[in-house]
Amino acid sequence: MKNETYEHALRRGAQILKQANIPEPRFEAELFLSHALNTNRLQLLVNQNTKLTLEQKQRYDQCLFKRTHHQPYAQIVGHKEFMGLDFVVTPDVLIPRPDTENIVENALQILKKMPQQKLRVLDLCCGSGDIGIAIAYYEKRAVVTGSDLSFKALKIAKENARKHQIDIKFVQSDLFQELSDQYNMIVTNPPYIPTEEIDDLSQDVKDFEPQMALDGGKTGLDFYRSIFSEARNFLMPGGTIICECGWNQIHDITFIANTNYFSVQKVIRDLSGLDRGLVCKSLSH
Ligand code: GLN
Repeated sequence: MKNETYEHALRRGAQILKQANIPEPRFEAELFLSHALNTNRLQLLVNQNTKLTLEQKQRYDQCLFKRTHHQPYAQIVGHKEFMGLDFVVTPDVLIPRPDTENIVENALQILKKMPQQKLRVLDLCCGSGDIGIAIAYYEKRAVVTGSDLSFKALKIAKENARKHQIDIKFVQSDLFQELSDQYNMIVTNPPYIPTEEIDDLSQDVKDFEPQMALDGGKTGLDFYRSIFSEARNFLMPGGTIICECGWNQIHDITFIANTNYFSVQKVIRDLSGLDRGLVCKSLSH
């Protein structure tokens, strides 16, 4: 069989992805071919009549195969961009989301205004380490600890920290259980999907991302309850918690925060106006 050209491979790939109901099939085909060829999309277009080697075709076809089974793009290529940094991604970690960048940006704004030489920050439920690493990368005074219950996730988080030459202390811990320090700020994107709603998530998410990174218990609020009930012991006086949450959870979390001596300083909204996070301050002890 004659080897196919880049353009032919792209058309074939887009068709396969389209049949599997993948949104933006042509775009993803281009991304997968770039990945298989270790190049970029522009080069594909410039060299559209170049032919694929057999090995390149196999690599490309393998990507297409995985994607038709709805494995997320980031898992197939093994990385994802977040806050301008490239993160290693495996099925052991939640894929970093643009929504979470909004949380990090708010955290950075608040940290920048703090006068201390060293800013102790805890990234609770750190997963891939995206939040803590981005904070340490953009705020050099931050001394970051990352913690997660998943040993496998921590392995990836460590790899990501090394990749960006960020010095972070990682602790395997069920929330605060193994922690003892006090922090200026806790940032967290805990699991917050109500257990019964996990089934309604897209196949990409529910079949491939770690359940333990998603499942927030019956109401989705289990982690917020545990975190807020203990957080004051791990925060310096007047310390801040910033958490991501689901679009319809703000009222419940505000109640949880208030009943645990935190005041809500700000509701973090996304571009479509949905409430997706909270900045809370610990009231004086
Ligand atoms: N901190 C990681 C993120 O926001 C992982 C969060 C989680 O596993 N729930 O992407």
